[in-house]
Amino acid sequence: MSGTLSFDELKSSVKDGTIDTVLVCLVDMQGRMMGKRFHAQNFLDHSFEETHCCNYLLATDLEMETPDGYASTSWESGYGDYVMKPDLSTIRLMPWLEGTAMVLCDILDHHTHEEVPHTPRSILKKQVARLEAMSLSAMMATELEFFLFENSYDEIRKSGFRDLIPISGYNEDYNILQTTKEEEIMRPLRNHLFNAGIPIENSKGEAEAGQEELNIRYADAMSCADYHTIAKHATKEIAWQHGRAASFLPKWDHKKVGSSSHVHQSLWTKNGEPAFHDKNDALGMSQTMRNYCAGLIKYAPDYTFFLAPYVNSYKRFAKGTFAPTKVVWSIDNRTAGFRLCGEGTKGIRMECRIGGSDINPYLALAAQLAAGIKGLEDKPELPAPTTGDVYDAKKAKAIPSTLRDATETLRKSAMLKEAFGDEVVAHYTRCAEWEQEEFDRVVTDWEVARGFERA
Ligand code: ADP
Repeated sequence: MSGTLSFDELKSSVKDGTIDTVLVCLVDMQGRMMGKRFHAQNFLDHSFEETHCCNYLLATDLEMETPDGYASTSWESGYGDYVMKPDLSTIRLMPWLEGTAMVLCDILDHHTHEEVPHTPRSILKKQVARLEAMSLSAMMATELEFFLFENSYDEIRKSGFRDLIPISGYNEDYNILQTTKEEEIMRPLRNHLFNAGIPIENSKGEAEAGQEELNIRYADAMSCADYHTIAKHATKEIAWQHGRAASFLPKWDHKKVGSSSHVHQSLWTKNGEPAFHDKNDALGMSQTMRNYCAGLIKYAPDYTFFLAPYVNSYKRFAKGTFAPTKVVWSIDNRTAGFRLCGEGTKGIRMECRIGGSDINPYLALAAQLAAGIKGLEDKPELPAPTTGDVYDAKKAKAIPSTLRDATETLRKSAMLKEAFGDEVVAHYTRCAEWEQEEFDRVVTDWEVARGFERA
């Protein structure tokens, strides 16, 4: 599969006129690609070495506000620059944009040229390196669920986000007839991503009107997060190109099911053997898998913020919707936070079902690896799997049910401080607090409708 380019291949494509634009990008705290569009010749001559960006890009929110309280930058420190250092191993085509390639950057301190510790890619890099030091690597896959709407982003914005008409009229779970009608977006999405070097497995209708799911083949953790980020970006751009909108908001209507991003994970040895598999175990789980999963489950409340980063994310955790509410594991049971898949086979893996479609994949994967690594180190007991309808499992520990609760478990997490560093945990705790502060000062439509006359 091609789609990725070496620096020399990029040079040839620029020379023969196939590429004229290079997007030089970082991934921000919200998981978005941010950066600059370079004329390809300038990129080849100069900017491939480095370019610069304002350091508020890693201390802002979805609205590009400048919140106080971040140690890394502020009005007081003058919001200086970071160095964007293109990682030339990430050059790839963006076939849905004419003549365009992209590259992802490492973000370095302007003065010391040290990697900035709170950037999503450097956080994940650190956890991958910790695993590597244990002679292990993680293979991971994220599922992308989203809704497609009849109208464009601009039309929806101009309607005050009122004209939200899903592209289909009924639940399209696995429905071939309805998803045929969405092929104007989904077929180019699959094919363009494939041609960008992203190993697309399939897309399918999901369990609501207008809801689609895109599946990408599992890969090493960093590639998985890159694939997710680029695929999400492409989904929005291709929907936009067709005058439609795609939304990854986890819950856009409380009467409908939400969108998730389940994370599949397994560990492998240096020799490419599945470290999670033991053919002599009744379920096929190795001791390594049991230890990893014990950490993964034990510390789920610590890292819930990285799976549910906004106020809206918590609206998804509702009984009877396939979105979990409890921190337990189960065997092929979609009501639990963690589902064992591929039991008894070399493809044995754990699926974390907590994350919403709004995850930043680098942070979500890094936090889960950190929890799993802690399990490998400390070897806590893996509780027995839960059976039946987990929504009604009274004794099972609950997932933090609000952003406020998840902020507190993040703030206090010794596990995450040890894995990511104190500064990084403080940085994201501030990010979480700010989201809540912004929400708290707004009067919502619900309050007005409920109380306007009757209060
Ligand atoms: P479904 O559950 O929808 O039938 P699959 O079981 O085929 O889908 O896989 C779901 C996701 O898990 C896919 O993205 C796939 O690439 C990934 N996956 C399969 N095997 C592994 C593995 N050993 N480790 C991590 N991810 C895996």
